[in-house]
Formats: sequence, structure tokens, C-alpha cells
Amino acid sequence: MSSDFGPHSPQWFSRIEAPERVESPDHVTWDVITDFAVVGYGGAGISAALQAAQDGLKVLAVDAFGGGGATAMNGGIFYAGGGTSIQRTAGVTDSVEAMYRYLSLEVQEVVSAQTLRRFCEGSVADVEWLQGHGVRFDSTYYPKKTFYPPSGYFLYHSDSSLAETCAAVAKPAPRGHKYWHPPVNQAVGFGVHLTEPLQHQAHLRGVAFWPRTEARRLVLCASGEVIGLVVIRMPPDSPHTQAYIHAQEKARQLLQKLPSSMPGFARLERKAERYWREADELQRQHGIVQRIRATRGVCLSAGGFIWNRQMLASHAPKYTSNMAMGSPGGDNGSGIRLGQSVGAEAALMERVSSWRFINPPAQWPKGILVNSQGQRFVNEELYGAAIGFEMNEHQQGKGYIILDRTLYRGAWKAAVRENLFPFMRLPLVLALLFQTRKARTLEGLCKKLGMPAASLLDAVAHYNRAAGGAEPDAFGKSRSECHALSDAPFYAVDVSASSTLFPCSAMTVGGLRVDEGSGQVLRADGTRITGLYAAGRTAIGLPSNLYVSGLSAADCVFSGRRAARHASSQTNREPASNDHGISVTP
Ligand SMILES: Cc1cc2nc3c(=O)[nH]c(=O)nc-3n(C[C@H](O)[C@H](O)[C@H](O)COP(=O)(O)OP(=O)(O)OC[C@H]3O[C@@H](n4cnc5c(N)ncnc54)[C@H](O)[C@@H]3O)c2cc1C
Repeated sequence: MSSDFGPHSPQWFSRIEAPERVESPDHVTWDVITDFAVVGYGGAGISAALQAAQDGLKVLAVDAFGGGGATAMNGGIFYAGGGTSIQRTAGVTDSVEAMYRYLSLEVQEVVSAQTLRRFCEGSVADVEWLQGHGVRFDSTYYPKKTFYPPSGYFLYHSDSSLAETCAAVAKPAPRGHKYWHPPVNQAVGFGVHLTEPLQHQAHLRGVAFWPRTEARRLVLCASGEVIGLVVIRMPPDSPHTQAYIHAQEKARQLLQKLPSSMPGFARLERKAERYWREADELQRQHGIVQRIRATRGVCLSAGGFIWNRQMLASHAPKYTSNMAMGSPGGDNGSGIRLGQSVGAEAALMERVSSWRFINPPAQWPKGILVNSQGQRFVNEELYGAAIGFEMNEHQQGKGYIILDRTLYRGAWKAAVRENLFPFMRLPLVLALLFQTRKARTLEGLCKKLGMPAASLLDAVAHYNRAAGGAEPDAFGKSRSECHALSDAPFYAVDVSASSTLFPCSAMTVGGLRVDEGSGQVLRADGTRITGLYAAGRTAIGLPSNLYVSGLSAADCVFSGRRAARHASSQTNREPASNDHGISVTP
């Protein structure tokens, strides 16, 4: 992306406007003066706000919706290790070194080795910080491989660390910490057990929060420093704001009724569009423009851009048929565009973490996953994001799980009898019922799929030899996970990215480049933009290469706190000289 990319560019696809350029802070009539302004009150924003308040700063956070973001909607997994109190109570051992060595495989070069080490070294303390602010975990341990623990379990292997290839590098340990919650059978939304206690603590420490307030532009002074921002705030306690909330929430509900890959979604999208337009009109008529001075900096923590379909098509076209995982309306790329509007560099914008989970049922990864040419392409026992990456990036999004009769029957048994959450059971049953082809021979299966038989026969022959111990598995799959495909009939389950009934979810992981020591946003030439920070999915972070469950939430806490700590350590910058000036809504 060229350095003059900005709101005037045809590919901007955002309502973020060019910055307001002023000579100095004294040349602006500010509505509010604060120390630290937070844009987006989800996982990263709440962590930043709370840490800044703890460090003695005056904080004002704004959110275009009600706060919580994708973090509140999520599955409630937090990646932590190195010997957390939860791991110790569960009787499992872990070390910072093992965590670091394992994560090095996933994170690669996307952050520096020092940053990854700092993250691992601070993991125990991050969990304690969360616990100290009322977030509850639980040590009930689920030892088997699964992408998500069954109801009643709160500690599990939320990554690929149990695979032999990974275990050879680092001793595995369960690092997926799920926030404790009472027994419920909901699909997602467990993230509120993180956001609500933190929000409550932030409120107690004086963090002012303006919901239904959209950041539109930054204020830049002649020195190149970001000194504040311009927001449009819906007035609290106004009937127009109630109507605005109603319209926003109706649109979001419609978009969450069905996975975006399913038939019928386009109709919901059209209906939602009407509500978005209604909300925009209310904001245009009744929204109040406010200029916020932030003496210690602005933190951009407004999520990613998976719900901005134009931005997605422009930056990451391979992922437009995946199911969008994020906050509808919230993950619209505005945090990234705010940074770019003042010359920040965005990177890895083509990177999307797509989750092709195939376990449960435990029988599926014992089969083989092949592309449209019948060629195997991945170790099927890996975590779903590693499989999704291979499938989307290198196999045109196509994937078929090849099973024999034993595995197929076992999968049905698991689908019917196992203790699965509905969001796991339903797509599994639908895929087995409607996306599975069957034939008495592998050649017959290829014919039905329009797949060259020679490559599938070759893949199965090698795999069966590996299962029998005659040769190592071509993709390094653990011997215990290899099952000879010999018991006819044979089955092919279509698990392609575009699968309508077995959706392959995705979230963006590219964003603003930041200085890894401070969280300050960087320009393309590597210089820091004074006064501007980024955190969570607005920034490049630990999950920007390969996500494992819980790593995004953990990175939000890590990067949010990092930005706040740096802002509060800047003693040479002037402190907020008045209170928040106008009434604030908790
Ligand atoms: C269903 C689901 C399950 C998931 N499960 C997990 C999991 O178990 N573990 C895990 O680690 N990750 C999980 N993820 C991913 C994870 O939730 C997100 O990557 C992470 O929460 C992003 O946090 P964030 O703080 O960057 O953004 P968010 O939490 O989305 O917060 C961003 C906020 O910014 C606001 N905003 C946007 N634009 C503006 C603007 N212009 N002005 C003001 N406010 C704005 C939004 O309204 C939003 O509230 C899941 C995601 C989904 C959708």
C-alpha cells in the first residue's frame, strides 16, 4: 500500500476521515480533556483503559456500540502457560521455556523473539492480573485433543502441542484457559466473563466510558504528534439514542442469525442494511461532534476488518466465502484506517486466520484431508487454524475428509452421543447428512467427486503404510492418529472453505505495525507516531501468523496493557488539566 494511501483513495472503504491538522493543541476548542483516550472498548481497549487508570491516568474510552466487541461474543478461551495457578491446581506442569518453544512454531517471525519471550514470561502474571480483577478460571482439565472443551471443562490443549511433531520441540501442556461460567448450553458469548469484570473494575477506577460513540478522525499537530480525536457521540438519555441502539442491535442480530456462508444470509444482510441506514440517519441528525484532547495518547483498539466486506475483498480476497468471525458492524477496519490516515503502516492485511476445525469428532482427523486433486496437504491432527491456513492459502479453499466405514460410523456415534455444544454438534450432523459422498471403492468415490483417482489412491496407499508402521507419515501425523483406510465403503466429507453447512470461520489478523516495546504505531519508515498506540486486532500481534485458541484474547490483554504502561510512563507530556468536563455515562 503506497504511503499516500488515505481517505481520498478509491480503495479506502471506510468512513474514517482525514485527520484534523492543527498548529498546536492551543489552536483547538476541546470539548473534553483527558490523559488517555481509548477507541474501541473490547478486550484490548478495556485492558488498556484499566491498566492506564491503575497507573493513575485519566481515561476516556469510546465505543461505536455498547462495548465488549468481539471479545464479549467469543468462546471464552484465554491462552496462558508457564505454570499458571490454574495449571498447578490441575496438577499439570508447564514452563515458560516450553511455552516459548511451542509458540515459536506458531508465531514464527511475526513478532520478535524478545516480544514472544516477554509474553510467555508475563503469562502467569497476566492471569493473576485478570483474577485480581474478578475474572474466574477453573482447573477442571480435559486431556484429549479437541478444538473446544466439552461443557464442564475449563483447561485443555487449545493448540497443536500434543501432535508428535510439536511435542518433539516442546513438552505439551494444556494452555487453553476457559473463563469459568455456570453450566449453560450456549454457542458462544463466554467472553463476557472477561469483559464484564474488567469493565466493572475500570468503572470503579474512574474510567469514563462513552458507548454509541464513533471515532471518525484523529487530530494531528504540526509536529506530527497525535493530540486527540474527533468522535460522534449519541447523546445519553435521548429517545433518539434509544432508537439508534434499537436499529444498531437489530442489524447485528440479523447478521448473527445465520453463518454468513449459509443460504439465506444474503436476505438477512439486505434487511440489516435497512437498519444500518436508519442508524446512520439518526446519527447524522442527532449525533454530537466532540473533540477529545488526549495528553498522553490515543489507543486504537477497534478490532479487525472481517465484517467490512469491501476491505476484505480488497486485501484478502481468498477469504470472502469464509464465515465472518467478529463483531458485525464493529470489525469494520476503522481502527486500522484511523492509523493509516496519519501515515501509519498496515501490514499482513492479506492474513486471515481461518478455522477448519475437524475434531470433534475424533474420527475425522484419523482419516485424510485431500484437495480437489485428491492430494493430501496437511497433518490432520493439527489445530484448525493451521489446517484452515493450508486449505485457504494453498488449496483454493478446497478440502475433503476421506474416511472408511469404521471412521464414518464412529463419527456418527460421536455426533449423536458425545457431550458437544450445539454449535459443534449441528454443523457436524449437517455435514454428515448433506455434504458426504459414499462409494464402494476409492475409485468410485473419485468419480463422484470429479477427482483424479491416481493421486487419491497413492495418498491412501502411503497413509495406510504409515498407519501400519511401514513408513513415517508424510505429514508427520502421530502414529496413534493414523488409521488405515481399508474398510469399504469409503466416504468423502466436503469441508471446503465455501461449505455452506459446515462453515469455516475466519477473522483478520493483519493490522497496524507497532513498536513492540511500547505499542506505539509506526510509519512505513519505522519511525514512531508520537501519541498513537494500537492494540488487539487493530495491530499486528502474536496471532498474526497462526492463531491458536485463546491467543487473540491473551494478546489483547498483553498489547492493551503494554500501550497503557508506556503512555503512563511518559512523564514529560502535559497531564489532563480538567475533569472530563461533560457528564459521562458509565
Ligand atoms: C465467535 C467468536 C469466538 C472466538 N473465540 C475466541 C476465543 O475463545 N479466544 C480468543 O482468544 N479469541 C477468540 N475469538 C477472537 C477474539 O474474540 C477477537 O480476535 C478479539 O476479541 C478481538 O479483540 P479486540 O479488542 O481487538 O476487538 P473487539 O473486542 O472487537 O473490540 C473492538 C471494539 O471497537 C469498537 N469499534 C470499532 N470501530 C470503532 C470506532 N470507529 N469508534 C469507536 N469504537 C469502535 C467495536 O464496537 C468493538 O467494541 C473469537 C471470535 C469470535 C467472533
